[in-house]
Amino acid sequence: MILFRRYIVLVLGGVLLFFTSFEAKKIRNDKSSTYLTENVIVLVIDGPRFTETFGDTSYQYIPHLAKDLAPQGVLVKSFWNNGPTYTNAGHTAITTGNYQRISNVGFEHPKKPSMFQYYNKTYADLKASTYVIASKGKLNILGNTKQKAWKNQFLPTTYCGPNGHGLGYESDVKTWLAAKTILKEKHPKLTLINLLEVDVRGHEVNWLGYLQGIKNTDSLAFELWDFIQTDSIYRDKTTLIITNDHGRHSKGKRSGYVNHGCRCEGCKHIYLVALGPDFKKGSISKMKYEQLDISKTIAELLQFQMPTSKGKVMWDLFENPNLKQQSP
Ligand SMILES: [Zn+2]
Ligand SMILES: [Zn+2]
Repeated sequence: MILFRRYIVLVLGGVLLFFTSFEAKKIRNDKSSTYLTENVIVLVIDGPRFTETFGDTSYQYIPHLAKDLAPQGVLVKSFWNNGPTYTNAGHTAITTGNYQRISNVGFEHPKKPSMFQYYNKTYADLKASTYVIASKGKLNILGNTKQKAWKNQFLPTTYCGPNGHGLGYESDVKTWLAAKTILKEKHPKLTLINLLEVDVRGHEVNWLGYLQGIKNTDSLAFELWDFIQTDSIYRDKTTLIITNDHGRHSKGKRSGYVNHGCRCEGCKHIYLVALGPDFKKGSISKMKYEQLDISKTIAELLQFQMPTSKGKVMWDLFENPNLKQQSP
């Protein structure tokens, strides 16, 4: 009789456990069903001027972006860096949702925590990886923050500059090879990739090199999307956002391209292309957005909070902006 009771208790316990785990799984599924996106990759092409990208309607330097990628996603033509228009500040605005003056030689971390840290804290139980991969070593500062409560916590992995050491500059081809290896092997959930060629050739006063840099990074953007859509883990579950950290001076069509850093239209005007399962297809947004809005939109897609970001969610880019309100 005692044995029989024990047996009953065991069976009941087992049934209860089964239903509890079933419920937990169901809740998790409901939560993740808000959006189809499970991974986000932000590709930052460093410093092309809008007049040589989507501002030139022949799209001669960005054939893939204009004719292959934007038609599969949504394009924001009125997209702006409204803060300091140099590399480390532009990238900081993208990853933290705040404009700030920050050293452009590196070594200074952003004042506010990044989207990587908020993601890693929210999903600590997943032990998923997040990455900053950059041709420019000085961008390893995106991996941490000065803010005391977040400093040295929930950090992404950084692979910036030659061999990922955080110093110097690496060619985009090598950065792309490193990025491909990381994406294939680790499948990070949230990744930022920086490519430098456009900016470097501009500063070298090399007009043809600058234009070729825009073409080369255009090809790499296409390769990246092709990789995502042929990878069994990333395919149809990954959002790709392609944007810039800043433009270049508009003054003097053939001389302005050399430098950047002021508040002229050429320096501030950039673009954004978003592709992925939750975005409109072949659409051009009529809205005006800015760099701060990137992290807030990613936080919405991946369902984490980013209270220190000053941006807003770019709702109109989503295919079904009411999805959130409809879901329980
Ligand atoms: Zn830059
Ligand atoms: Zn300027």
